[in-house]
Formats: sequence, structure tokens, C-alpha cells
Amino acid sequence: MENNSDFMVKKELVSAAKLKKELELAKAELAIQKKKAETKKKEPKKKEEAKKKAIAKKKEEAKKKAIAKKKVIAKKKVIAKKKVIAKKKAIAKKKEEAKKKAIAKKKEEAKKKEEAKKKEEEAKKKEEEDKKKEEEAKRTYEEELEEQYTDEQIIDFSIDKTDMDKLVNKVTEMIASYEIKGILQNILWRKLKLSSRDGSRLALKLEKMGNITREKILENGRWTYLLLIKKIPISTISIENSPCLICPVEGKCSTDGEISPKTCQYIEEWVLADSKSKKRYEIN
Ligand code: SF4
Repeated sequence: MENNSDFMVKKELVSAAKLKKELELAKAELAIQKKKAETKKKEPKKKEEAKKKAIAKKKEEAKKKAIAKKKVIAKKKVIAKKKVIAKKKAIAKKKEEAKKKAIAKKKEEAKKKEEAKKKEEEAKKKEEEDKKKEEEAKRTYEEELEEQYTDEQIIDFSIDKTDMDKLVNKVTEMIASYEIKGILQNILWRKLKLSSRDGSRLALKLEKMGNITREKILENGRWTYLLLIKKIPISTISIENSPCLICPVEGKCSTDGEISPKTCQYIEEWVLADSKSKKRYEIN
């Protein structure tokens, strides 16, 4: 028979073992609960992450789409811009070509006009030259006279009832008054009331005498002569009214004396009168 203390020990050992077992069960249960709790705790986080991932993915896709869309729009814009530029270039090219054509046309027209003008001028010039040649071919009355008469006969020419020396001096002085400009012979003959026949012979006479030169010129379609002074003859007319010829003190007069032409009143008046007389020629 077991004693009471052993029984008690055994009983306590059973209780301890039981307690230990219960404790282990409780621990296991707690671990399960903990795991469940952890699992439960982790689930929303996963969901959240998955949700976030989905959102991020969507955003990424949307972003990609937007970028792609932007690229397409940009590409379209570039194409449209290129088209506009190409169109503008084509228009500008057309305008430039049209402008060039217009300029070329104008140049061509101007060239044609210029050529036509040149031809017209050439024709006119030729016509004038032909006319001039034709006129030149026409012999003047003076040229015929020169052929008909000798130089002596021409110099001996005189007009009836006319003092030829006086006339020669007068005409020479008149021609001299026109200096280097000269005077047309027909104008001079009108002033002197000479016929053109006498005038022409007188001009030839003056030329042969060496007083004048004659220049053949075409005036209003007709050949005539410009008369130019060559040599002013010493004329007795120029001194015939000189006060010295009848001066009572002529014997006492000298250039360095008290009575002198330098201070002579008569000489001064005579020169002035002579000068006025020459001016009348020019006016007439
Ligand atoms: S210059 Fe006079 S002063 Fe002398 S001679 Fe002639 S007019 Fe007489």
C-alpha cells in the first residue's frame, strides 16, 4: 500500500503534467491566433498595395497613352506645318516665276521697242543722209560761177553805177561786225538791197580778195553760205572824215606834245560818231 504522501506526490505530478500539456495547447492556440491575426493584418496591406499597383499601372498606361497621343498630335502638327510651308513655298515659287516671266516679257518688249526705235532712227538717219547727199550733189550758183569765171574775172566783178571800192569796204566792215559768228549771205544781201545774183558774185569777189571766207551750210533745206571775216581792209572811208585832215594846229600836234591826239576833243567826237555808225550796221 502506498502511503498518502506518495499518493499526493503522484497526484501533483499528474497535475503538473496535465498543466504542462494544457499550457502547451494554450501556447499552440495562441500561436495559431497570432498567425491568423498577422495574416488578417497583412491582407488589407496587400490589397492596398495591389490597388496602388493597379492605380500606378493605370496612371502609367494613361501617361503612356497621353505621351503617345501628344506625339501623334505633335507629328500631325509637324506634318501640317510642313504642308503649309511647302504650300507657301509653292505659292512663292509660282509668284517668283510669274514675276520673272513678267520681267522677261517687259525686257523682251523693251528690247523690241528699242530695236524698232533703233531701226526707225537708222532709217531716219539714212533718209537724212540720203537727203544731205542729194542736196550736196546739187551744185550752188556760186559753184557754177567759180567754174565759169577765172579768179581775175571774179575779182573784177562790178555793179553798174556803183563805187565798188566803197561797197567792198562797207560789206567787209558789216561782215566784220558779226565777228566769228558770221552772217548768212542772203540776210546780208537783203540788208544791202542787193539781188542774190549780185550778192553771190560780190561774196566770191570778197573771198578771192582774201577779205572773207565762205562756209557752205544747209539752211532750211537749201544750200547757202555763211560769210566770215578774214581780213579788215584798210579803208580810206575810215579816215576820210578825220578832223586831222582839216586841223589848223595839225603841225603842232604830236603824241607827246601839249597838243596831242591823246587829249584831242575832235578825235574823241569823231571816234564816237564812227562807233555809232558801225552799230547802225549791226542793228540793220
Ligand atoms: S589830233 Fe586833234 S589836234 Fe591833233 S591834228 Fe588831229 S584834230 Fe588836230
